[in-house]
Parts: sequence; structure tokens; C-alpha cells
Amino acid sequence: MQPRLNVQAILGEGPHWDEEHGLLWFVDIAGRAVHRYHPASGQHQRLGVPDMVSTVVPRSRGGLIITMGRGFYTLDWESGTLSLLAEVETDRPNNRFNDGKCDAKGRFWAGTLDKQENQPLGALYCLDVDHTVKKVLDGITVSNGIGWSPDNRIMYYIDSPTKKVVAFDYDLDRASLSHRRDVLHIHEGSPDGMTVDQDGMLWIAHWGGSQVSRWDPESATLIETYSLPVERVTSLAFGGPDFTELFVTTAGRQNPSEPPNEKFAGDVFSITAPVAGLRGHQYAG
Ligand code: CA
Repeated sequence: MQPRLNVQAILGEGPHWDEEHGLLWFVDIAGRAVHRYHPASGQHQRLGVPDMVSTVVPRSRGGLIITMGRGFYTLDWESGTLSLLAEVETDRPNNRFNDGKCDAKGRFWAGTLDKQENQPLGALYCLDVDHTVKKVLDGITVSNGIGWSPDNRIMYYIDSPTKKVVAFDYDLDRASLSHRRDVLHIHEGSPDGMTVDQDGMLWIAHWGGSQVSRWDPESATLIETYSLPVERVTSLAFGGPDFTELFVTTAGRQNPSEPPNEKFAGDVFSITAPVAGLRGHQYAG
């Protein structure tokens, strides 16, 4: 498999398909950059930011919102101007935001981690459209993939070291979670990013597992796997004109002392999916 985009990110993450502009947004967390890719023309641009950036999502009123460090920021792509909307965990300098996604009402859900990634010092937050933040889950080690069922009545969530996908009943009106249960156990590497297709099946990126997998969450059945030539598969998002192109981000070496690994590590790949995926939502605040 050849990369869709040769970018060699240190830690490629957070793909989001911008339907309005036909763009794929993604980040390089450790490379401290936001990337914009226009597949139809091949145009690709990178914007450096001052701290570790873990997600990027368009705002419905224009511009972008990112999680960087422990804050939610607005970002103007043309000028590079950042403006802090809300900050969390100001008493935890060793924490940072990680994966995040907007729900169908345009609230921004994002979780944190302790940079050692071995203690449950992180949490999961929800930034509402009025810019208030509430902590929804505590005791999280590496907050990662988030997804919702097509009817928005279930939220799926990954805390990577647990090697599990859990589900909650989701109240979309109140942004509240209840009735937590385990739905999947992942054994090939660790579950990282996640997205959902129109049939309600879960697509999971396997960090350390060189693959993407598709699962039926109701029966906990593995439907299919797609191998990638990179061990650290980080996240994925459906896009393209009919939402059947699955864009997949990957990571390269994580520190300078580590020898370079695979040729395509850190590149973006794409898989033609047998079903269309759900659209990613913009931030409505
Ligand atoms: Ca991740």
C-alpha cells in the first residue's frame, strides 16, 4: 500500500474531513503542526503552532478550533492567530489534551493524558457551545477514540491502555453519559482513534498493530481488517465526495534516539471502504 500523502509526521493524528471545502485536516502532535490537504488538487500545507496540538475541527461560524496543550483555542488559518477559549487542568503541567471530536449538536469532546502515559491522571471533557467546559469522566490514562452511533444514542470511547472500547448510553440533549459497558477487547496493538460507519460499525486504528479493523459493536464481532505498512496506526476519518474514502494517519519514531523505522511511517493512507462513513461535525460555538 502506498501513502495517500507523503508527510512523515512524527505523530500524525486527528483527521477530520471538511465537507464544505473538500479538505482533510489533521495534526502532527509532536511535530506541533496543523495540516491541510486538498486531495482533489494534491495541495498540502502545514502550519506550525507553539505547543502539542492534538485535534483540529472547523467552526461553523468560520475558522478552526484546536486542542493544544491543555486548552481549546480558535485558530485562524490565514494569519495563524490563536485565541484561548477554555483551559483545563491548570494544576497538572504534565498533562495535555489528546484525541477529540464534536457531537451532533456541535459540542467538542476531548480528553487528556499524563505525558508519561502510565497513570490515570487524565480526564474526558465536553466543551459546550457557550464555551463552558465540564469534566465528564475521570481516571483516564490515555484518552483516545470517540464515536457515536448513527442515531446518537450510544457513545463509544477508548482509553488506550485498557485495550477496550466501552460504550455509554448518550443523551444528546444533555450531553450526558450513562450505563457504561465494555463492548470490544482489542489484542493487536492498542486501540487508538475510532470512527463509525453508516451501518453503525466501528473502525479502529491499532497503535502498534499495523492495521485498521472494522467491528460490529453489538455482537463484538470482527468483520474485517486492513493491513498498513506502518506499525503505529493512529486515527482515521471518512471523507471524499461520498464518504467512502477512509483517511488513516500514522506515526513515525517518537524520539530522536529511536532509529528510523518504516519508510512510510507518519504518512497518511487511504482505504476505499465498502460502506460510507458518518460525517464529522463542526464545532457550533
Ligand atoms: Ca490518538
